[in-house]
Amino acid sequence: MQQQKVVDSNAEDFSDGEEATFQDIDMLQDQGINAADLKKLKAAGICTIKGVQMTTKKALSNIKGISEAKVEKIKEAASKMAIVDESMKRKQCFKISTGSEDLDKLLGGGVESMAITEVFGEFRTGKTQISHTLCVTTQMPGAMGYTGGKVVFIDTENTFRPDRLRPIADRFNLDQAAVLDNVLYARAYTSEHQMELLDHVAAKFHEEAGIFKLLIVDSIMALFRVDFSGRGELADRQQKLAQMLSRLQKISEEYNVAVFVTNQMTADPGAAMSFQADPKKPIGGHILAHASTTRISLRKGRGENRIAKIFDSPDMPESEATFSITNGGITDAKE
Ligand code: ATP
Ligand code: MG
Repeated sequence: MQQQKVVDSNAEDFSDGEEATFQDIDMLQDQGINAADLKKLKAAGICTIKGVQMTTKKALSNIKGISEAKVEKIKEAASKMAIVDESMKRKQCFKISTGSEDLDKLLGGGVESMAITEVFGEFRTGKTQISHTLCVTTQMPGAMGYTGGKVVFIDTENTFRPDRLRPIADRFNLDQAAVLDNVLYARAYTSEHQMELLDHVAAKFHEEAGIFKLLIVDSIMALFRVDFSGRGELADRQQKLAQMLSRLQKISEEYNVAVFVTNQMTADPGAAMSFQADPKKPIGGHILAHASTTRISLRKGRGENRIAKIFDSPDMPESEATFSITNGGITDAKE
C-alpha cells in the first residue's frame, strides 16, 4: 500500500539548513575505522556516533571481534566526529501537542523530544487516551519548524485501539488511513519482550532516519509487576527496569524522539497512616522517578474532566491543568 508520508527525511528538503538528526556510524570510516568493524558494532545495536559515545569501553570490548586497542581507536574517532553541542541539541529539540493547550502549557509547550515524559494516575484517568491523541498530534506540523512524524506504540496492556485514532484524525483534519499507517504498533507480552522490542524500535529509527518522532510505552510497569513478585524479586526488578529506562533515554537522545510512558499507582500503606494529603504514589520507585524528565500525575475531575499536575519537579512550578477526554481526543476542559 502506498502510504502518505507526513514528513520526508531527504536532506534536500531541509531548506532552512536543518542538520540531519543523527550521524551514522559509517561516518567513522573517514576516521580510519574499517567497514567490517563497523558492521560488528551495528550488529550489536550501535548504529550512530552518539551510540558509540553512550556505550562504555567495557561494553564495546565485549563485542566479538572488537579488541581493546580497537575500542580506543573507535572511541577517539567518535569524539572527533561528534558535533553534538548543547546549542545544536536545543535547536533540534521539539515539542508535541497533547491536544489540550492548557496541558501543553503545564508541560512547558508539550511532550518534549530527547526526554522521557511520564504520566501516572489511577484507572480511567486518561493515560491511554492521551497516548492515542499523541499518536495523531505527532503527525501534525507544529511550532518552531516541527514537521510532524511517525509513532511507535508499545502496548503492554492490550488497550491500543486503532479505530480510536479515526475520530481524533477527523478532529485535526487528517486522513484516517494515513494516520493509521504512520503508527507502528507492537504488543509486549513480558518485560523481557518489552526490552527486546526496543532493539527493533532502535533499528527502525535508524533505518527510517528522522521519520519517527514519538515512542509510547503504555504502560511501562505493567509487565514488571507481573514478572517480578514480592520483596525477594524487587532488587532484580529494579535492575531490569533501570536497564530499560536507560535504553529509552538513549533512544530518545540518539534519534531525537519524544518518549512518552504511562504508569500506574499504588497505595502506600505507610503513608496512609500519616498526615500526607495523597497517600498514593506512582510505582517504579526512585529508578523511574530519576529516569523521567517530567512526571505528571492525573486525577479525576467532574465528568470527563481530568486534572494534571506536575509531580516532584525541581525546576517547574507546582501548577495544575484541567483537560477533557472527548471523542476527538484530549481537549481543553469544557467549563
Ligand atoms: P487504566 O489505568 O485502566 O489503563 P487509563 O488512565 O489509561 O486507565 P483511559 O483508558 O485513558 O484511562 O481513559 C478512560 C476514560 O476515557 C474513560 O473515562 C472513558 O469514558 C474515556 N473515553 C474513552 N473513549 C472515549 C471516547 N471515544 N469519547 C469520550 N471519552 C472516552
Ligand atoms: Mg490505560
